[in-house]
Amino acid sequence: MQWEQVRLLDSVLEEIEKVCTVAATLWQRRWIERNGGNISLNLTAKLTELPESYDSFRYLPGDFPAGAAGMVLFVTGSGKRLRDLSGSVEGVACVARIDEGGNGCHILWGGHNEEGAFQPSSEFIAHVMIHLMKKTATDKHRAVLHVHPQELIALSHHPVIGRDERKLNHACWSMLPEIRLFVPRGIGLVPFMLPGSKDLATATARQLSLRDVVLWSKHGAVATGKDIGEAFDYIDVANKGAEIYLQCLSSGFVPEGMSDREMNGVMRLL
Ligand SMILES: [Zn+2]
Repeated sequence: MQWEQVRLLDSVLEEIEKVCTVAATLWQRRWIERNGGNISLNLTAKLTELPESYDSFRYLPGDFPAGAAGMVLFVTGSGKRLRDLSGSVEGVACVARIDEGGNGCHILWGGHNEEGAFQPSSEFIAHVMIHLMKKTATDKHRAVLHVHPQELIALSHHPVIGRDERKLNHACWSMLPEIRLFVPRGIGLVPFMLPGSKDLATATARQLSLRDVVLWSKHGAVATGKDIGEAFDYIDVANKGAEIYLQCLSSGFVPEGMSDREMNGVMRLL
């Protein structure tokens, strides 16, 4: 069956183009091996001309929070390789609208799949819950990024730092003034939970209301931003702290780090 597709505004296509550019960088960083990572954008305010009926659009059942009814999201697909976004964005991602009852979503754009039925990312529920939380937040973040940055993941395996959010933040912040400045709310630590689970989604949304980055222990990182570039920056800068910390350890010494007094001085630059 040939499902209907909406036409996206140029301003929306430009935002999606930015996602493709960032995905190329993520691949170079080795943060999105195989089908690792997922990305979403809240397009609810941008898709103003919606169809009168959704009958001719593909429908996927799901269990969404009631508050998500009517939400329109660009989201990458389950099992898809983000490195393929640039070459075939409509095959790797879709624009989905959650129906009025929160019982499923219609695929408005993209989601082409010759081999089988396209499904949004297995972390879609986490993305929806984060967008719901951000809807009422003051920062107006509309992009959500989940990737596998190896240094932050490695630090989450540390027997002490990987279990202590305060020590984790001190380790990363104290490596370089810019980390304290550009990840000012720090990293929230979420203990290992089953990927794709509601528990993980709830814990992540809660932490992202307080922190700039969430580290899923022994799995990966999540951040939000006004656009995908800003979400990437938060994880990139936080990961730099983890990278330097680990480099010091692998050089055979525990890094001294900036003192609390030095870091407080840095914060006065804001
Ligand atoms: Zn992951």
